[in-house]
Amino acid sequence: MPKNAITLNNGVEMPAIGLGVFQTPPDVTTAAVEEALRLGYRHIDTAAAYANEREVGEGLRRSGIARDDVFVETKVWISDYGYDATLHAFDKSAGKLGLDRLDLFILHQALPSAFDRTLDAYRALEKLLADGKVRAIGVSNFMPEHLDRLLAETSVVPAVNQIELHPYFQQTALQRVHAQHGIVTQAWSPIGGITSYREAAKSTFDDPTLLGIARLHGRSAAQVMLRWHLQKGRSVIPKSTKPARIAENFDVFGFELTTEQLDAIDALDTGVRGGPEPDSITLEAYGRDIPEA
Ligand code: NDP
Repeated sequence: MPKNAITLNNGVEMPAIGLGVFQTPPDVTTAAVEEALRLGYRHIDTAAAYANEREVGEGLRRSGIARDDVFVETKVWISDYGYDATLHAFDKSAGKLGLDRLDLFILHQALPSAFDRTLDAYRALEKLLADGKVRAIGVSNFMPEHLDRLLAETSVVPAVNQIELHPYFQQTALQRVHAQHGIVTQAWSPIGGITSYREAAKSTFDDPTLLGIARLHGRSAAQVMLRWHLQKGRSVIPKSTKPARIAENFDVFGFELTTEQLDAIDALDTGVRGGPEPDSITLEAYGRDIPEA
């Protein structure tokens, strides 16, 4: 594994930077994955709900890189929660990816109004872990109260909680809970992509503080944000379909932010979430069929 690896709570090593592929259209996913792997990425983050696992698998194969040298992470969608359904979700995702084993398999969201179903889904992940079908398991978008219940009612502490985290939304209380339990914080929208999707929203890419720090290092705002996460011990999964940006987002090992610069970025937190409120996730509103492999 490359030097930027983070050791998960079960000893498995995960490269800190992965390529994200949310909203990457299937017809460009294979090329993006292949390009990332060519540039040195060794971690890809996809999800059943992104409808591009098949194309991710094709990119992995075309890269020619040995299977064991790439860390593949995917997520179970809420429509496949429940013990048997989630075991089958593994077959669907692994089948589309063309892999026998996944490196990290996580629950995409908690279902607060159907938490027993969420717990059953997690118990299926525990079974997949015990059977060696996945090397690590985790969750995404879990809030402290969801983690509390999960930890109380299941056996394996999640290796990772993948959450919205960028300079404008930092979830520090949740990060403290992660630290208490040895859960790695994995930042989604790590460069604040979600702050730029809506026209009216203030985008992290235009932030004067970030641009000022970037200028001092001869870097971009995106690189400064990624460096900030890495120096704080977090995993990041920036998404791009553009080769130049895929390269830029991986070229973050040749400089270091000062404590003052890290503090200045910490101070940008607005406390305002860009993505959906985790407690608003219901099967009725967000359920969708995940096709067979
Ligand atoms: P990111 O913070 O990764 O930002 C991506 C956006 O920024 C895209 O619009 C991309 O456009 C653009 N971009 C990428 N690199 C640069 C750069 N260097 N300079 C300027 N613009 C850039 O946001 P995402 O929301 O995509 O999050 C990353 C990943 O996190 C997802 O792909 C997915 O894997 C995961 N995720 C998980 C969620 C969850 O619920 N668990 C929710 C959302 C995301 P372009 O492609 O045109 O370069």
